[in-house]
Amino acid sequence: MRLPGKVAIITGAGSGIGRESALLFAQEGARVTVADINEKMGRETVDMIGEAAFFIKVDVSSWPDTKRMVAETVERWGRLDILFNNAGIDLPQATTVVETSEADWDRTMAINLTGVFLGSRHALPVMMAQRSGVIINTASRAGLAATPGEAAYCASKGGVVSLTRQMALDYAPYQIRVNCICPGALEKPTLDRRQFLQTQSAAALDLRKEKFIQLNPLGRLCTAKDVAKAALFLASAESAYITGTALLVDGGDLAL
Ligand code: NAD
Repeated sequence: MRLPGKVAIITGAGSGIGRESALLFAQEGARVTVADINEKMGRETVDMIGEAAFFIKVDVSSWPDTKRMVAETVERWGRLDILFNNAGIDLPQATTVVETSEADWDRTMAINLTGVFLGSRHALPVMMAQRSGVIINTASRAGLAATPGEAAYCASKGGVVSLTRQMALDYAPYQIRVNCICPGALEKPTLDRRQFLQTQSAAALDLRKEKFIQLNPLGRLCTAKDVAKAALFLASAESAYITGTALLVDGGDLAL
């Protein structure tokens, strides 16, 4: 086991990367707080894990929700070793700067970037008192390289990469490690983008997938499991000397 006795909070654990990570962390011995705004999906994840998990309904863009998320975790499990700030959105209607509404910009920033700040803001005092802890943030390939037509998303994920490096420096004296993961395009896009893609023709979707696969050096799209395995590495003692890094999980995409 790679996380024996550890306590982890995973935001956005009702779906995709968050769910796969919750399953994997629990399998490796961790107790997991499944934090998600979607109660049904979050509870499904808990049912898949059993007693080593519990659900908290959390909007990561809310100060009181994220404060409660940390407090209830510590009350329930007695400590907090790992915070995986993973919840995020990728609004299909937020495209170029001119086409992005102020509301979509604000919402993207609030969930993708402020969410990372808020989770960390409440978890860090607990970890500082323990003089140990790990924070992992899900950024994106789009946080390191620009993607056309994704202004708000790229800016929010670039902010996550930058905040990761910044927090790594401030909290290294407490032996708290802070890293982020930058996944490439996943087989399953985020929920909001999936809903949008359902409105497209099957042929257009196949074409999009083919294009990604053809361009990728390893010849396939990323899976939620690929990212969960990277998160497990960063959460475990195997990465004890790694902090402030942005780990690409993109099949070599950005090396092109
Ligand atoms: P997903 O949509 O399958 O899962 C995201 C989860 O976050 C959902 O369960 C959703 O309910 C939850 N969530 C959304 N808003 C929330 C909020 N305000 N508070 C709490 N929970 C909230 O998406 P995913 O693909 O698993 O994405 C996870 C992370 O990976 C996101 O940060 C995303 O930006 C990033 N990412 C995804 C891709 C991709 O292609 N899917 C690529 C790179 C990075």
